[in-house]
Amino acid sequence: MTQHLADLFVKPTPLKGGEFDTSVLDAANILAFDIETVPASGWFWHPKVSYIPWKHITEPGSMLSWAAGWYHQPGRTLFSDRIRKNYDDMLWELWLLLDKASYVVGWNSDRFDLKKVRGYFARAGLPPFREPKSIDLMKTARTFGFESASLGYTAQMFGVTEKIDNGAVASWQEVMAGDPEALERLEVYNRGDVTTTIELFDAMRPWIRNHPHMGFAADDLERCPRCGSGDLTYVGVHQAVVIRYKQFRCGNCGGLCRSTIHSRASVTRAL
Ligand SMILES: [Zn+2]
Repeated sequence: MTQHLADLFVKPTPLKGGEFDTSVLDAANILAFDIETVPASGWFWHPKVSYIPWKHITEPGSMLSWAAGWYHQPGRTLFSDRIRKNYDDMLWELWLLLDKASYVVGWNSDRFDLKKVRGYFARAGLPPFREPKSIDLMKTARTFGFESASLGYTAQMFGVTEKIDNGAVASWQEVMAGDPEALERLEVYNRGDVTTTIELFDAMRPWIRNHPHMGFAADDLERCPRCGSGDLTYVGVHQAVVIRYKQFRCGNCGGLCRSTIHSRASVTRAL
């Protein structure tokens, strides 16, 4: 009888629920967050302008709203906007969350959200927040070669709750003009992105390269850096350029990890 390839492996259960143990992750202060922004305004003289010198900018970009969710509070998202709160209070609330978080999870968050909020905070006179360890899931999405590395498309590929389409791209203008329905749509959209991000964090976990270590148990067991499980199976060696390490697979999240102590180092190196 031919055995199906997949039957040779223990299939991990990466989604919450099931048998996946989240106890280490729940204790790790993981914050997923996403910001919505107002673009900068500026002068232009030609409709096909491709470059606007900074001296032509009349109003810098700013934050419209943010949404966030703690990993250990599944199903609950937090939200703040500049219409119902004032701008500085909205920023301050997010500053407090980021300062408290040990890890942040986002989509394109290294290149966009985290950079933007640092600038908004600095302009508002806030001090630097304690920088959490960042997990930008878009970087992992780019390793899949999907047709798009967008949050919406990747959500479809993994079959998680799909990002809500906000319909009108220009809805921020309606929000800024005080349209309560537009603000409601923004809130649903912004919160939805966080829900999708958290679900993708679970689904994509074993694929996240160079995943930060999520917590140290009070024992000296070899544990999975992604989920803290002690259920590690030796699966062979990991060969770096000159050093050889022991490699393990986690029975809880399915991720691979290696020992930090090398088992063998070569005494020569190729040129
Ligand atoms: Zn694991």
